[in-house]
Amino acid sequence: MIPFELARPRSLEEAIALLDPEDPDIRPMGGGTAVMLMMKAGVLRPTRLVSLCDVEPQYAQIRVGASGELHIGGLTRLATLEHSPLVKKGWPLLSRTLRTLSNVRVRNVATIGGNLGHADPHMDMPPVLTSLGASVTITGPRGERTVPVEELCTGYYETVLDRDELISEVIVPPQAGRPAAYMKVTTRAAHDWPALGVAVVLDMKGPQIGSASVIVGAATDRPTRLTQAEALLRGASPDDTALLRDAGEAGAAQLDIVGDPHGSASYKKQLLKVYLGRAVRTAIAAADGRAAPFEGHA
Ligand SMILES: Cc1cc2nc3c(=O)[nH]c(=O)nc-3n(C[C@H](O)[C@H](O)[C@H](O)COP(=O)(O)OP(=O)(O)OC[C@H]3O[C@@H](n4cnc5c(N)ncnc54)[C@H](O)[C@@H]3O)c2cc1C
Repeated sequence: MIPFELARPRSLEEAIALLDPEDPDIRPMGGGTAVMLMMKAGVLRPTRLVSLCDVEPQYAQIRVGASGELHIGGLTRLATLEHSPLVKKGWPLLSRTLRTLSNVRVRNVATIGGNLGHADPHMDMPPVLTSLGASVTITGPRGERTVPVEELCTGYYETVLDRDELISEVIVPPQAGRPAAYMKVTTRAAHDWPALGVAVVLDMKGPQIGSASVIVGAATDRPTRLTQAEALLRGASPDDTALLRDAGEAGAAQLDIVGDPHGSASYKKQLLKVYLGRAVRTAIAAADGRAAPFEGHA
């Protein structure tokens, strides 16, 4: 391994000062789970890693704000989020999703900021947070800015972050009992990387779907909103199986799906046709307190 400097700043401000907007070999590190894999693979050869593990504890806290929104510090461990009673009660979609994200060893060290900053299109949290309308606070030398999670990823491992900016917080609007589900389709173990991920959040108008937020992951170079499927679902009954099939078809037709080691493009297309409807039915079942038959590994 090529020697590198490991910096351990005590504050976010100091961490930002140790980053360099011009130097791609100086990188922040949250849990380091992705950084270490990239270093082992030889795709990252840092000259300096800026560890965020000693910065102020306020950046690893979870709280509910005045309007009922969830504030997750950017350095919060995924396991802390998974087990948070606040999250389990108000944002069950997040806790349920985290249970099948990798394994407990990774969740114990990985941070939500590192998760979103990594921008691997196969990741589970970006589609889920996008479907809930979440945004990130980005902190850098020029202050703070807010960006919807939907606009964070710009391509494979690419984000809108400048090299001297950090994700310091994730803000999630109230789930407010809305039916929601994330279908993670894996070809091996339940906690494996998804061949496809479909996140659905529904706003119900009585028994009808008032509006739907449908985001797919692991299909293209970034999480993508299925606008045509959303249009079909508006005003529909979740029991209308023909309509759900049409929505799946529309979603598959909208995307130029990319194949990868987890599945070919045609396989993923077929998965999307089937799993979009399953996600809607699972969301309704979960909100009714019934067993969510399909959620998670399939
Ligand atoms: C064996 C294994 C299996 C996995 N399976 C899955 C899976 O099934 N589903 C899934 O979704 N993920 C999976 N992952 C990926 C895992 O979720 C990520 O590795 C993890 O979330 C990254 O978080 P981290 O804090 O360790 O990031 P790090 O490795 O520290 O950093 C990742 C990237 O983000 C940058 N970064 C770190 N912190 C910040 C910050 N605060 N602001 C801005 N940029 C930052 C780093 O510079 C780096 O580019 C798996 C990983 C492993 C090792």
